[in-house]
Amino acid sequence: MKIFYHCEYCGELIDTLEVEAVDEVKFGFDCLTDQERQDIIKTDIAQNAIYVKALCDSCITAIGLDDDTVALGMSAINKGYIH
Ligand SMILES: [Zn+2]
Repeated sequence: MKIFYHCEYCGELIDTLEVEAVDEVKFGFDCLTDQERQDIIKTDIAQNAIYVKALCDSCITAIGLDDDTVALGMSAINKGYIH
């Protein structure tokens, strides 16, 4: 299964990961509500892929977001992704 991270703001492909199975805790998905999950994560069974909305570094800098102001669980996802 492949996971594609796209920037929600500029649409740029941030990264792709190849995983055997999705560990929701590892990726920070367990921190999301069902609504956030539906909003942020798109699963494509046919392509065996998951598409995740995130923010690229340049957009995080441009928008001036920090961990306290990031909404919709983006900080959880980005933390899970970066570390
Ligand atoms: Zn961006």
